Formats: sequence, structure tokens, C-alpha cells
Amino acid sequence: MKYIFVTGGVISGLGKGITSSSIGRLLKSRGIKVTAIKIDPYLNIDAGTMNPFEHGEVFVLDDGGEVDLDLGNYERFLDISVTSNHNITTGKVYRAVIEKERQGEYLGKTVQIIPHITNEIKSHIINVAEATGADVCIVELGGTVGDIESMPFLEAVREMNMEMGKGKNCIFVHTTLVPIMGTVGEQKTKPTQHSVKELRAIGIQPDIIVARAKEPLEESIKKKISLFCDVPIEAVVSCPDARSIYEVPMILNDQGITDYIISRLSLEAKRPDLVEWSDFAHRIVNPTKSVKIALVGKYTHLADSYISHLEAFHHAGAEAGTKVEIVFVDSEVVQQFGPTEELMKCDAILIPGGFGTRGIEGKIMTARYARENKVPFLGVCLGFQIATIEFARDVLCMTDANSTEFEPQTSHPVVDLLPEQKNVTKKGATMRLGAQPVVVTEGSKAYRLYGSALIMERHRHRFEVNPRYIEEFEKNGWLFTGRSADGVKMEIGELEGHPYYVAAQFHPEFKSRPNKPSPLHLGLVKAAIRKKFE
Ligand code: GLN
Repeated sequence: MKYIFVTGGVISGLGKGITSSSIGRLLKSRGIKVTAIKIDPYLNIDAGTMNPFEHGEVFVLDDGGEVDLDLGNYERFLDISVTSNHNITTGKVYRAVIEKERQGEYLGKTVQIIPHITNEIKSHIINVAEATGADVCIVELGGTVGDIESMPFLEAVREMNMEMGKGKNCIFVHTTLVPIMGTVGEQKTKPTQHSVKELRAIGIQPDIIVARAKEPLEESIKKKISLFCDVPIEAVVSCPDARSIYEVPMILNDQGITDYIISRLSLEAKRPDLVEWSDFAHRIVNPTKSVKIALVGKYTHLADSYISHLEAFHHAGAEAGTKVEIVFVDSEVVQQFGPTEELMKCDAILIPGGFGTRGIEGKIMTARYARENKVPFLGVCLGFQIATIEFARDVLCMTDANSTEFEPQTSHPVVDLLPEQKNVTKKGATMRLGAQPVVVTEGSKAYRLYGSALIMERHRHRFEVNPRYIEEFEKNGWLFTGRSADGVKMEIGELEGHPYYVAAQFHPEFKSRPNKPSPLHLGLVKAAIRKKFE
């Protein structure tokens, strides 16, 4: 097993995740089997309890892991499915060590960060990587070099490199920022120099520097970085702003990074095959038409909160030959003013997942607008529950219908807590989570979209459509065409006589991949095209 450690310098948000994923994709294009691990230095055990406003979306894995959104990038770029063990947090590491201490595994010893925490980190990385049977494991270290929290992780990977024959089986990729100053656009290397100095102080010499800048690095700047940071010039890689993240692998590849890594790690590689990927990226950046889709939610100030939806629309758009422009609409604004002009200008609407009462009535108004005006609509998780509440209120005349999440006293709890959740009190990792089978009714719209009567989709919820009301809903045209394997949980709803009004309790966005778009997102995009152009 060979390791590529990706660290970040200067500032966060440099696209370390995209760099890691792109390197993975490039190695994969040479016939090398790649896996990836994300290290998050925070104390949370997992990302499940974190607010999307702060950290972006919580990504959900097949095994129910609630993880950092970068694992979504790995899955999309590498076309693999990882497990929750691929996300290591300080919380997980400390918990493991403290449990071992209580078991008496370190009997007689003083338990310390070095070597106990660092050993735990190393063995976690190695165990996870080896279990995948991959040739190369990319380990992305979250945070910025110099943070107190990331110190034990950097120390652990430094030791790994030393223990595995310095430089033979491990390489370090450091991502930095090259700001551009002044009117003539001078590219500045000082922040890169400083962050490399910081990394060296910990004992790590980077092998490759990936420098983010608005523009491609000038040759003289590459030389300067090479000289000051002691990295060969061919290992200074420029990563300018791209039109699409899916172009980044080609941008890096054109500078020779793949060959450099292959030779440094003495990997056996095949001839490059990036045709499918670059064709996909080409379709994303060269659309022939464009549709607008409104995303109505409450985390609309941070695009990362909905990253998997945005990517699913990229995948669907590439498939349908269209650009999908996402218009973020704050559900609280709709709640206050009704469907806004910007919402009405859109060709389709998505209501994504969410928690809590804020903006709920605005989402219900949005669902009503889409239903009555035959605007293509997709509801996901909370969006499915919203569509159900709206239908109950307006069509079934249950004017106070609600979810007990928002109104515990409602006389029509059409959405209610899952029975198995009734005694759950702890919040961490206790929802209905991960991949679950869904049985799709033959002949339904969902069946046509999926082309299968049995699908596996990922879940993350505590509430569900109350089975008491199913018959009444279906008699009136809100059909449940997807159900859990035991038939008890409603998974897909579709409205009779509407061009496209589909909603799901699960999250199809998490399994969407380049050239394998989420069927429900693709259906929405195609319906938007029909609405706009036919
Ligand atoms: N809050 C709802 C539930 O817990 C929906 C969850 C979601 O959208 N992920 O069931």
C-alpha cells in the first residue's frame, strides 16, 4: 500500500478535497486502484450533529455514516463507495484510545498523545486502507497546517512515512494559495513559502506543491516556489480557477503530476484513459441550452450546504445536454411574501432535506405553487414530507395537517415520528440512516425513471408519512410508488396528472455520479427542458 498525504496551507477552502479527488481520478485513469480517507481534526465523532451553515452538507454513506462532504467528492470522482471508517475525526481517535485505556490495554503506562494517539491514528489509516485492497490510499488532512488540532495527525503521518521507508511509499502533497496583487497582477509566493516552513517545522517536507491562484502560475513563479520550497520544478503544479471542478483532473494531468506520482511511488501504471471523464467535463462546460431550477431551502447562504444536489444537477445536466442554473430561494422569504418573482421565473423546483420549523410554511407554499401551476417539482426527504403535508391541507381539506416535528399537537399528523424513534433520546447517529432497499411500483413514473423495481437509496430521517393516511392520499391522487421492503414505510410519492411532481423520503443526490446521474434529478431536469422548450 502506498500513501499520498494531502495537506493544506495558508487558508482553508482551497479545494484540497477536489485536489485529492482529482489525483485519485488520475491514478485510476492509469489502472491503479485508489481509495481515500478524510481526516477531520474536530472533536465531534462524526459530522451528523453539525450545522450545514457552518460545515456544509452532511454526506451520508451506504453504511449510514454521516460524514464530511469531501467523502462525497471522493465517491463522485473515484466512483467508489466508502465506509464511515474513511472519515477519521479527533473524536473517534480519542474515544478509541480512552476505551482501550479503560479496558486496561495500556496497563502500567501513562497514556499520551505521542505515542498512543498517534499510534491509534496510524493503525486506523492502515487498517482502513488495507481493507479496501487498493494500491494507493489518498489521505486528506483537514484544516490548515499550524492548527493545534491537526498536530497529532501530522505527527502520525510523518511517522508513517519514516516507518515505511522515507519517501518510497508515502508522498506529501501540499496545497497552497498564490494571491495576485496590484494592477499588473503580480503573483505572490510568500504565503506558500511560509506554510511550507510551517510544515517543515513539524518534520514534513512536501514532495508536490499544488498552488491555487486565480490564473495559471507564471513559469518564473513556479521556479521561485521550486527554489524556496525545495521541490523540483515539475512538482510545482498550478491549479487556476476552473470552469468546473470536473476539469481539474485534466488541468493537473497536463502538468505531468500523474507521471510524477507514478514514478515517485514506483507504481505500475497502464496507458492513460481519461476519455470518458474529459468527455463528461466537456459536456458540462459546453452546454447547448440552459434551464433554471429553484432550490428552496433555509441554508441558501452557503452553497456547500447542498453540494450533493448541485453535483447531481451537474451530472443530470451533462446527461440531458443542458446547463442547470440553480437559483437559491430562501424559504423564509417565500413564507413572508409568497412565491417570489425569481421563483416563478424558474423552470423547475427542488425542495431538499432539512430540519426544524424555520421556513416550513414557505416550503409548503412553494409545493402548492408547483402543484397548482404544473411546475416540475422534486421533493427530497423533508421535501417529500412537505409535499405530503401540502396535499393533505389543500386536497384532503385537513387544514391543520402537519408533521409532528413542527406541530406536535396537530389534529392531522400526516407526517409522524418513525415508531422505532419513539424511545430515542440521543442525537448522534440515531436517525434512520444509510442505504435501504426501496420497492418501486411497476408502471409508475419512478419505475420508468429508475428502470428497476428494486433500488437501494440512502436515508437520513426520523419522521415518515403516517401510514394511517395512506389510503386517503392515494384515493385522491398522491400515490406512493416506492415503499420499504416490508411495505410499511412510504419512500416515493408522485402526483397523478402532473407533468413531474415527484418526491422521495430518501436522498438520491448522495448516489449521483458523473455519467450515472440520480434518476430523480435527471427526471426533473428533463421535465424543466420540456416546460421551457416544448
Ligand atoms: N426532518 C425530517 C426528518 O427527520 C427530514 C430529514 C431530512 O430532510 N433529512 O424526518
